[in-house]
Amino acid sequence: MLNYQVIPLKSGQDNYIWLIHDEQNAIVIDPTEAKIVKAYLTKHTLNLQAILLTHGHADHIGGVKELNLSYQPEIIDNFKQQLFESQIIQIGTFPVFQVMLTPGHTAEHVVYLFDMKHLFCGDVLFSMGCGRVFTNDFDSAYASLSKIKALATFTLCYPAHEYTANNLRFTSALDKTPDYYTQFAKFVVMKLSSLQNSLPTLLSDELQYNLFLRCHDPLVWSLVAAALDEIIDSEFNCFVALRKLRNNFS
Ligand SMILES: [Zn+2]
Repeated sequence: MLNYQVIPLKSGQDNYIWLIHDEQNAIVIDPTEAKIVKAYLTKHTLNLQAILLTHGHADHIGGVKELNLSYQPEIIDNFKQQLFESQIIQIGTFPVFQVMLTPGHTAEHVVYLFDMKHLFCGDVLFSMGCGRVFTNDFDSAYASLSKIKALATFTLCYPAHEYTANNLRFTSALDKTPDYYTQFAKFVVMKLSSLQNSLPTLLSDELQYNLFLRCHDPLVWSLVAAALDEIIDSEFNCFVALRKLRNNFS
């Protein structure tokens, strides 16, 4: 097996299409559009072997039809195939993907752990934030985030959107602990200005700075309680209240 690379393809305003390749074959996760993927594949003489989808929102599947017509890749999609927890997916000679069921943002949402260290997390986890809970099933949404929290801390997370700067703004508006985020914020700004993206993000950083992964921490309960003037007495209540605050933040 040759070494592989994970490439970010920016699409639209803030979407990421993640592309993995070994210099011959490629896999894309959540192709928003076909054009940018085809251009990359053509430029680097790559064959598209598979498309993996985290969920069915239009900005994640927009390019599937056209890419399917051009390359006939294998398509992994929880809508059509009923994936199961810990399912192993082998694409060609690439290291395997492991499926994690992560309902909450949508009911069918899944994330893929690739080669035990790269997590393609769609709209479940963002750097310094998490996805909206469109299902209103906050129990499932919190359980999904908790699964991600339990992964190895060296896991690199690849969300499908560049929301980091806004999420940092939200976090520092809520948590006024002086300088707590300064170092991480500098790191994000540096990446955004040089690489034009802040991702992937290390799970160890998210565990430290992402409020949605710190809902077990009574310090976060007190921040959320003060912001909403509500009593927060459990990590689940903290998560629901935090998501409510984020929904209303602009
Ligand atoms: Zn979505």
